Amino acid sequence: MIHDNLSVTAENHLAFAGLDTTELAREFGTPLMLLDVEKVRSKMQLYKKGLEEFFGNNSFPCYASKALSIKEIYRIAKSENIGIDVVSSGEIFTAKSVDFPLEKALFHGNNKTDFDVEFAIENGVGYFVADNVEEINAISKIATEKGVIQKILIRITPGIDPHTNAKITTGQVDSKFGTPIETGQAFEMVETALNAKSVELCGFHCHVGSQCFESSAFIDAVIIMLTFIRDVKNLFGYTAKILNLGGGYGVRYVESDPQIDIYENLKQVGSVFNETCEKLNLFKPQVILEPGRSIVADSGLTLYTCGSFKTIEGYKNYVSIDGGMTDNPRYALYGSNYTVYNASAVNSDRKVTATIAGRCCESGDIIQENVKITKPNRGDIIAVAVTGAYNYSMASNYNRITRPPIVAIDNKNAKIIVKRESFEDLIKNEI
Ligand SMILES: *Cc1c(COP(=O)(O)O)cnc(C)c1O
Repeated sequence: MIHDNLSVTAENHLAFAGLDTTELAREFGTPLMLLDVEKVRSKMQLYKKGLEEFFGNNSFPCYASKALSIKEIYRIAKSENIGIDVVSSGEIFTAKSVDFPLEKALFHGNNKTDFDVEFAIENGVGYFVADNVEEINAISKIATEKGVIQKILIRITPGIDPHTNAKITTGQVDSKFGTPIETGQAFEMVETALNAKSVELCGFHCHVGSQCFESSAFIDAVIIMLTFIRDVKNLFGYTAKILNLGGGYGVRYVESDPQIDIYENLKQVGSVFNETCEKLNLFKPQVILEPGRSIVADSGLTLYTCGSFKTIEGYKNYVSIDGGMTDNPRYALYGSNYTVYNASAVNSDRKVTATIAGRCCESGDIIQENVKITKPNRGDIIAVAVTGAYNYSMASNYNRITRPPIVAIDNKNAKIIVKRESFEDLIKNEI
């Protein structure tokens, strides 16, 4: 099995987090998303422990909530005592609705509107990660009006290409995010922030990309960012207190992806961090990481019901499912890989090669091509693994398809944490 929370029952059914998925499908209906809460918690704890141990005990993770932004995930993050990264007023609102302590939130995004800036300041968001000079000026102006000093970090583009999918790399000089060191603009940003009336510059942020399977991009980022901090110190006499290295550790979607040992990787990056601080004679900044995918991806599983198995003679086979790009647009967007099982007969005879097709009126509505699977019949349960990140958060109502529910499994107890959307929900904003 692709991850340790998946197994096969005596009846040859797929089990997830210790429960038979075919029974969960019967109880809650399909499409159905499952969330393994123990796995989420253990990942959060792993990052927290690794950061404290290898970077200094004031270092901590901020869960990148765009991967899955729902009330329950903020409750879990709150109880695990970690921070969060948010990218919109909507995410701030969701976190606030469960009393997440927003002083532990970092507000990201390359275009925060005046509304967003006001909303975040009013709700006590701890840090803004400022993207550009105009934004710093807007934050300072609004903070002045509200009589507060807003803490900020500056988002820097360190000029690193982690060589993953171009749509998810963000650290290269010409990225739409942040301000590059190479062009000198990052130093102008620092000057703006240091002179702005109502902002307190606390440090710097970078995020090189996503789905990184080893630490070389993080190690490069540590060296480049600490050197930048040293240069800023020499130029302006200002020493950064926080270094935020972003998110991006990868997750295994298919057998051919490596299984990554986060703790070992943090150890490696931590030792370069400590050496470099010493070499540059720098006071060690507090380090933040913003893992998203690696916290929730393999904690998720999606269940569908097979509607048909169709063979186009001489060409290919299609398995039609009762969901698709509306709950998981990642194959359509990035050609992402997924592991698919016939949950009703996992290991019987995985000889059939099939394309898993969604139900939308789009030829591109595919979950995966060329899957080896036990030939399913109408009514069999089809499971797609590793769907916890960037699935529900990217879901839509295209074709007026309702979003699926999310059922959390904690200690083998299953409970609904997000209800299935109703038809009434579909029209609730319409006049
Ligand atoms: C998307 C994003 C993350 C999380 O990335 P993952 O690959 O999901 O870990 C963290 N920080 C920033 C700024 C991001 O944009």
